[in-house]
Amino acid sequence: ASAWSNVPQGPPLTAPGITEAFKADSNSEKINLGVGAYRDDKGKPFVLPSVKQAEKKIVDSALDKEYAGITGVPAFTKAALLLAYGPDSAPIKEDRVAITQTISGTGALRVGGAFLERHYPGAKAIYIPTPSWANHNAVFKDCGLKVEKYRYYNKDTIGLDFDGMVADIKSMPKGSIVLLHACAHNPTGVDPTEEQWKQIAEAVKEGDHFPFFDMAYQGFASGDTNKDAFALRYFISQGLKPVLAQSFAKNMGLYGERVGAFSIVCESAEEKKRVDSQVKILVRPLYSNPPIHGARIASEILNDPALNKQWLGEVKDMADRIITMRALLKENLEKLESKHDWSHITSQIGMFAYTGLKPEQMEVLAKEHSVYATKDGRISVAGITSGNVKRLAEAIYKVTG
Ligand code: PMP
Repeated sequence: ASAWSNVPQGPPLTAPGITEAFKADSNSEKINLGVGAYRDDKGKPFVLPSVKQAEKKIVDSALDKEYAGITGVPAFTKAALLLAYGPDSAPIKEDRVAITQTISGTGALRVGGAFLERHYPGAKAIYIPTPSWANHNAVFKDCGLKVEKYRYYNKDTIGLDFDGMVADIKSMPKGSIVLLHACAHNPTGVDPTEEQWKQIAEAVKEGDHFPFFDMAYQGFASGDTNKDAFALRYFISQGLKPVLAQSFAKNMGLYGERVGAFSIVCESAEEKKRVDSQVKILVRPLYSNPPIHGARIASEILNDPALNKQWLGEVKDMADRIITMRALLKENLEKLESKHDWSHITSQIGMFAYTGLKPEQMEVLAKEHSVYATKDGRISVAGITSGNVKRLAEAIYKVTG
């Protein structure tokens, strides 16, 4: 008998059937709102011009392909720290942030979860929002952490359940690990306001909790990398010492290059040294050292002043296109005199919008209107274009009445 004869068939891991159903649909006006990647206004994948230039520079300089160190390309991680924490960050000036390059944001979460499982002195549990990015649960579970939930989304208001969130943080056992989406919450697109972040920080501090920020969309939410880092930087200004997972998949469009970082704010430079040694001990048997090509691209973009300026403009253009499509979708629904309130479409932020549509309505959208997205009513705003927004609004109007 085969060694694997008793291995059970697992469930599909990506949004079941959306891509397949979309491909099989012969309607020339079909719309795919299921993808988690940016598309240009023609609906095509987008390689940032700054990325193309950086890549050319790297190829032209004929670098060798030697291994990076265990924690990656130093010029990249140094710049990633500055991007996230800001040039005036006290922990950076005091050289007390440990960082390692990771296999994009997912790898950062995984290294982070493993580090906490091994070294966090409190309970080995992590609280994630309801709902959260689907992979959070799996990543942290596989790190050996217990995954708990806190309230986040209010389906009645299609907005933040702020009171529920703060109440849940306050009732967690002292010293709990809390996962926070730094900006552009996935899947809801619902973020706390700056005022609300201040109160969340207060509740985290009060409970002696440990903040773990997942920042997969810095710059992609508002178009401004500093604004999108508000929560992280505010927590630090309040004396909290978070850990951070960074991804460059969305804001640089480097999806398949897998560029990310995991960092740990420490108490002192001496503590950082010890923490850094343990990060290395953890990473070495996992994958030895990370891939270099994508990190070199990100490093060029972050470290070359002209390229950096250009990139910031391109991030803003991507964010602005998404913001414009949100406004157009809402405007078109209002033109049709939809009796529903669609203000959440423009108050939400980032790649995804939670429409509030029910699974049955999403099914009709697909079957009768060739509009494909996940059953939870989440649509990828990146899939909306000036060419399809009118038809999309009509379809949503017909389905919701
Ligand atoms: N966190 C969140 C909230 C995300 O939405 C994503 C991407 N969908 C990630 C992390 C990780 O993405 P990647 O591994 O591609 O950087």
